[in-house]
Formats: sequence, C-alpha cells, structure tokens
Amino acid sequence: MLGQYPLTKDQTLKLLKMYPTPFHLYDEKQIRTNARRLKKAFDWMPGFKNYFAVKALPNPFIMKILREEGMGADCSSMAELVLAEKAGIVGKNIMFSSNDTPADELVAASKLGAIINLDDISHIDFLDKAAGMPDMVSFRYNPGPLKEGNVIIGKPEEAKYGLTREQIFEAYKIVSDKGVKRFGLHTMVASNELGEDYHVGTARMLFDLVVEIHQKLGVRIEMIDLGGGYGIPYHPGDKGIDLELVSRQIRDEYEKLIVGNGLAPLEIVMENGRMVTGPFGWLISRVRHIKNIYRNYAGLDASMANLMRPGMYGSYHHITVLGKEKLPSDHKYDVTGPLCENNDKFAVERMLPELEIGDVIVIHCTGAHGHAMGFNYNGQLRSSEILLRENGEAFEIRRAETLEDYFATLDFNKLEGFKA
Ligand SMILES: *Cc1c(COP(=O)(O)O)cnc(C)c1O
Repeated sequence: MLGQYPLTKDQTLKLLKMYPTPFHLYDEKQIRTNARRLKKAFDWMPGFKNYFAVKALPNPFIMKILREEGMGADCSSMAELVLAEKAGIVGKNIMFSSNDTPADELVAASKLGAIINLDDISHIDFLDKAAGMPDMVSFRYNPGPLKEGNVIIGKPEEAKYGLTREQIFEAYKIVSDKGVKRFGLHTMVASNELGEDYHVGTARMLFDLVVEIHQKLGVRIEMIDLGGGYGIPYHPGDKGIDLELVSRQIRDEYEKLIVGNGLAPLEIVMENGRMVTGPFGWLISRVRHIKNIYRNYAGLDASMANLMRPGMYGSYHHITVLGKEKLPSDHKYDVTGPLCENNDKFAVERMLPELEIGDVIVIHCTGAHGHAMGFNYNGQLRSSEILLRENGEAFEIRRAETLEDYFATLDFNKLEGFKA
C-alpha cells in the first residue's frame, strides 16, 4: 500500500511541458494493483465488495477503473450519485451513506436502486414519505462511548453520525413492521486508522450486534458494512495496514460469532476511500519564491485550494524535490501557498534539500481527500488532474479551472444597471 512515485526526472520534465503546474498525478497501475490486493485479502467474506467513498476522489474516470476492479460507490450527495451513474455504477453497487439528507437525494438514490443507509431513526418516516420504503434498509450505528474514534473523525460520542445503541433496536422493529424484509447494518467510527486491532474490533462489535439483534427481535441482518477509514502511511516511517492479518482475525471472529450462532452467511462490505487511491496520487508543483525572514519560506504555485489536509488537520504529507532526492535534507522551510491565510502551508519547519526558484516539488499521498477538498477562497483556482495510464500515456481527466469558471455564477452585465 506504499505509493511509489511512478516517473523518472526526465519523464516528469516531459510531462511538465504538456501540463503546467500545479496538477495532481494519479497512477492507474498502482491503483489497480492495490484494488486487486484489497479484493484478494478479503475474498473469503460472503459478498465482499468495497464501495469506493466517492468523496475521496470524485472523478468518474477513476471510478470507472475501480468499477472494473469490482468496486461499488459509496455516495452521500446528489453530485456523487450523478458521478456514480456516469461511471456506470448503479443499483446495489451504490451505497448511499449520507447524513442530514435532503428528500430529493433519497428519491434519486431510490430511483438508482441504491442501498440506502439511514443516519437517524427519524429518517425512516422521512424516507417513507419521500420515496417509499425500499425492500432493503440499512442503519448507521454510532456506538458512542463503547468505541474510541481518532483525530480526523472525533469520538463517536461527540460525532453527529448514526443511531445510538438503543435506537438501533427500535429502528429495525419499526422498519420490519413497515414490511421491509432485508436489513443491513453499518458503522464508520474511524478515519485514517492504521491499527489492525481497531478494524478487527469494529467487525467484532458489528458481529456482536447482529447476534443481539437476532436474539432480541428475530431480525436477521444480511449485510454489514464496516465503513471506510483504513489508514495509509503518509509518513515514510509509517507501516501500512497488514490487510491479510486483519482479514484472518476478522475471519476468526466471524467463525465464532456468526457461524457459531447459525447466522451465516452474513455479507461483509466496506467503504474505503483513502486506502484505495490515497498513496497513488501526487501534487506536482514548482517553487515560485524563496523568502527568508524569521523563518525560511518556499512559496509554491499550489495552495490549499489544491490540498487542504495540512491546513485543515495539520496532516503530514511527505515532500520530495525532483532531482534532489539524494541530497541531504539540511535546510528548514515552511512550504506555503499564496493564500492570505497563514495556514496555507503544506509543511511547517520541514527539513529539505536547499531549494531554488523553479524546483519541482512532489507532494505525496494526495490521491484521496486532495483535489476533492479544494475550494475557491481568495480567488484560488483548482488544478487539473492527470492520470498516468498503464501504457505510460498521460491523460487529462480534469482540466484546471479558469477565471471564467470562477466567475460563472456572477452576471457582470447586471452590474451596469446596478446603482450602488
Ligand atoms: C469519508 C467516508 C468514508 C471513507 O473514508 P476513508 O477514510 O476515505 O476510507 C466512508 N464512509 C463514509 C460514510 C464516509 O463519510
């Protein structure tokens, strides 16, 4: 699951002649290899499928590749449903795991035949009124104090998502009284979690709940969705998750709790986004200015508009300098963008080789929650996205924004007749 920057220096320079910086580069080959590895690791699970969390990399070209590798789409908004459909992902290959959901999105998800994963007990009636009850309903479980979260997602007890333990039992009773015959159970309690035990614990928690729901209500859950949240090694010192180990340990729990209680087969699915594409994307940028004041600053031609994670969560993204990979990292920089916001930084007090104007900077692990989080604050434009195909060809899967795009929602003509 470690990403490997796929180009040599010369190949990168050639690419830069065609596409001006900044841009995100994604590597199809590594994305496919990793998708196959994920599938293989969990292939014992009945009905295993990873529903790619579209918000991580909402690009239909990538989604089409993932579909071909057997993935579905985990959507939570109208735009994400549209993207899934455009990529040819429909029906039960869509998991609609939304929250604070508007009625028209439930109608659209229903029309597409998606699995609807409700975030609250009050949404049962809301869904029934908006779109009618589907044949299958899933609920998102929030274990509250029974499970610890992490920095990105927060503690379950303080998180806005899901139904409480008490509500879960009531909810299945209500929907079975309404005639629903097929049931799913979902949870998503951590994000970017590298601990194998944590993920095994999540599966155990849902297995226990499936058994308890069956004992108390006679309701048989046919599918559990373990959510996403598998972490990736952002830091060169991090170790990726041992998927095979997680799989073996979940299998032991499955044998004991599900098979042991006569509840097999139980389908097991996931909604990973980050671990699917994260390590296989790189933000390519150039040093625009070097500035030495109280600290030394390297100002790039990319900004938070292209990668928000460091500014938003203080996340670490590894940085290398093209052609200077072997030089000692003996200079300390804050690596910044041009926003008038002091958290517009890709790295703070980072040791790097000595930088010069024009140096090509490679920011690693930007394939998930990278371009997707971009915003237009301060008039910053979002970059293009380039896919490196398996045959080595570079293919633009999204062009860069232009000023026309930025101003598209303003009508300057109306300004002339407007009296201030
Ligand atoms: C964000 C999200 C995911 C994906 O999380 P990753 O950390 O990218 O794996 C999956 N499911 C839901 C409901 C989410 O909100």
